[in-house]
Amino acid sequence: MKFAQKLIRWQRRHGRHDLPWQGTRDPYRIWLSEVMLQQTQVATVIPYYRRFVEKYPTVGALAAATEEEVLQLWAGLGYYSRGRNLHKAARQIAETGFPDDLEQLPGVGRSTAAAIAAFAFGRRAAILDGNVKRVLARCFATNDKDRLWIRAESLLPRKDVETYTQALMDLGATVCTRRKPQCGACPVHEDCISRKKGWADRFPAARERKPLPLKETTWWVPLKGRKVLMEKQPSPGIWGGLLAFPQVKHPGWMEVKRLGVVQHGFTHFRLHATPVLCTVRGVRAGEAQRWIEIDKAIHAPVPAPVKALLRKLGTVPN
Ligand code: SF4
Repeated sequence: MKFAQKLIRWQRRHGRHDLPWQGTRDPYRIWLSEVMLQQTQVATVIPYYRRFVEKYPTVGALAAATEEEVLQLWAGLGYYSRGRNLHKAARQIAETGFPDDLEQLPGVGRSTAAAIAAFAFGRRAAILDGNVKRVLARCFATNDKDRLWIRAESLLPRKDVETYTQALMDLGATVCTRRKPQCGACPVHEDCISRKKGWADRFPAARERKPLPLKETTWWVPLKGRKVLMEKQPSPGIWGGLLAFPQVKHPGWMEVKRLGVVQHGFTHFRLHATPVLCTVRGVRAGEAQRWIEIDKAIHAPVPAPVKALLRKLGTVPN
């Protein structure tokens, strides 16, 4: 039996069938889920996906929202450029429909485009996301990306491409896991070079892990009663469009208390921020700044570490 046939048969019996974005051909829902699943695990995505389709059941509804509203719902899912691109792409789709070349959409790369094409339109298109790369790298004992793409294309079945694509995703997520792959339960173990040679830990090649640079900053946290001054972050930027604390002190702010360092890891650097509570007298908010009730700020579009600090402030009595 061919590689693809083995996977298709396995998916029908052992794959995942109850993910909330399955059982539909609606390109909007499939596109939304595939963008959310970039670099993010299924379990994390599910509640976000549900909230998005409830609030924005159609691409038109998403396009009609403001960027801030979209980022507010996205807050906590990370990689915020995805949220901004999602909104941009929604406006494009609402106007002209899904393009034939899905890679023309902001935030949609080759693998995401292929997944949408397969699931929504049944097109024969090869995916190569992180999980699939691991499966194919192990099976064919190569870390060469070009070769993996060629393999991915040549393995595509003539029919049932959706089931096959889902099978590859499921296999990578549940059987051919990063650590301790369960080769005994794998439908392609007879084809797998790494299993035969005991090389599973060589593929994919470990990324060279250089220590990430450290960025240190101060978060000025001006308070007025139960209100806090927040600042819209410049776009593009790691938190572009989201609200966070000012990093430049205004002369009218009086420092009252330094809090413990907040640590947060990004893909390219680590952040250490020292929050400093300040009192404010008679100072107007700057152009990108606004006073918000702490309880409301928690639900505004704020990144996760900012939200955690706001929660702490919310529990501090007046
Ligand atoms: Fe992964 Fe093992 Fe299957 Fe090879 S046999 S693809 S290493 S689970």
